[in-house]
Amino acid sequence: MQQKEDNLKNIISHAKEYGFVFQSSEIYDGLSATYDYGQLGAELKNNIKSYWWKAMVQMHENIVGLDAAIFMHPSTWKASGHVDAFNDPLIDNKDSKKRYRADVLIEDAIEKIRKKIDKEVAKGLKRFGDDFNEEEFRKTNPNVLRNEGKIKDIEDRMRDTLNANDLEGVRDLILDLGIVCPISGTKNWTEVRQFNLMFSTELGSVAGDASTIYLRPETAQGIFVNFLNVQKTGRMKIPFGIAQIGKAFRNEIVARQFIFRMREFEQMEMQFFVRPGEEMKWYDYWKNQRIKWHKALGIPEENYRFHDHVKLAHYANAACDIEFDFPMGFKELEGIHSRTDFDLKQHEELSGKKLQYFDPELNESYTPYVVETSIGLDRMFLAVLSSAYKEEKLENNSERVVLSLPPALAPYKVAVMPLTKKDGLPEKAHEIMNDLKFDFNCIYDEKGAAGRRYRVQDAMGTPYCVMVDHQTLEDNTVTIRDRDTMEQERVAISELAGIFAERCSMKELLK
Ligand code: ATP
Repeated sequence: MQQKEDNLKNIISHAKEYGFVFQSSEIYDGLSATYDYGQLGAELKNNIKSYWWKAMVQMHENIVGLDAAIFMHPSTWKASGHVDAFNDPLIDNKDSKKRYRADVLIEDAIEKIRKKIDKEVAKGLKRFGDDFNEEEFRKTNPNVLRNEGKIKDIEDRMRDTLNANDLEGVRDLILDLGIVCPISGTKNWTEVRQFNLMFSTELGSVAGDASTIYLRPETAQGIFVNFLNVQKTGRMKIPFGIAQIGKAFRNEIVARQFIFRMREFEQMEMQFFVRPGEEMKWYDYWKNQRIKWHKALGIPEENYRFHDHVKLAHYANAACDIEFDFPMGFKELEGIHSRTDFDLKQHEELSGKKLQYFDPELNESYTPYVVETSIGLDRMFLAVLSSAYKEEKLENNSERVVLSLPPALAPYKVAVMPLTKKDGLPEKAHEIMNDLKFDFNCIYDEKGAAGRRYRVQDAMGTPYCVMVDHQTLEDNTVTIRDRDTMEQERVAISELAGIFAERCSMKELLK
């Protein structure tokens, strides 16, 4: 664990050193849980957005995009339930004065028990070797079964108390589990309180209740209120989807984990409108599609797992998360939710406008059901960055830091370098770059020794370096140096564009 935490520290400082992520308003000592993306971060973020947008919108005939405003009519949030129910249960430790989310404390306790189970399974594997049948072992081993039972009891109690808004019950559960504050080590807890996560502000110059508006805590509602606009103007037929990328804001109680939990962040959401009764089929479909999207990036599969929700949100009839093994352990990266017709019905009721769809095949009107996929762009950024970050010992005993980013997502695809600053090599290098730059984001570098320049590009995650040397002037060939293998190959300049198109394009991932 300590090593993983150190790893997070190293990733944060690397992200700063190379211009991926800066603390917001750093010259004023920063603003907590708010971050700015620097020159490389902005590129990586744009590439992730583009990978998502292409996969969701461009690759699906029946999904279209939307870009709704952050401000919405205040009734939106009354209808969606956010004014009354978008709360987190918080609890303070009286000794450390630290504040926690009560549900997160309980989930962490569950995770500890899960780790015990994993240890037991690892022991079994060691004992039985190749004959080990993990599934059978999990079903029969008494220690595993006892711990599974414990987890189930805790999850049941957590769900029941939270659903009933029984905050005393939540506190009792924390006490019964013997949960201590990680800072003070004591069980000296306050009562549990509910805290609404929406930021509010005033519209125009008149203060008072009537003019209170909210910064949207999710992008989804912009899609729901535009459902009929898009359906009618786009002549969309159910099933169809609307996708959106945009900022969302939550006044998070605890925000300590870099860009994992921010107060201003970006979501990439898609709401898929389906016939009532068909939602479970589409829920399974989207679970499958979304995990495929992640795996196509080539990040090792063991970094991902599904986690079904214990406490369903007020609008859902099924929900799961895709969790990722971040430097702080497995945590939610993306949510897939079957939201029923809750939102559209609520908006119908509060607005007095019909939000129904006439299904020509069934010859009837109905309120569609919705299956949504919702991923945090910043969390995806952290997933990609943290899995790419490697500190390597090389054969000659030197070390390097390399970001093995998927080439399609890397900020720069190609660094073009002249071996020396004279003999017409810089001019030749610029000529090559001026040709490549229409299709690939390129960077030019002529400063310092070649080895040193390669190291800098490794740390930036640039998958390929093109070196222009004296031979180039004679036969129009260059070397391409590969970031991951560090191997070099000599190719004709005329082949470069084709090679990079094959190795760096998103097309291969999207197929
Ligand atoms: P958590 O349980 O971690 O608070 P959530 O279940 O409230 O997350 P959702 O409401 O399902 O999250 O939001 C969808 C996605 O938006 C999440 O999967 C996550 O990637 C992202 N997200 C939510 N809150 C934040 C945040 N504070 N900072 C960054 N990303 C966030």
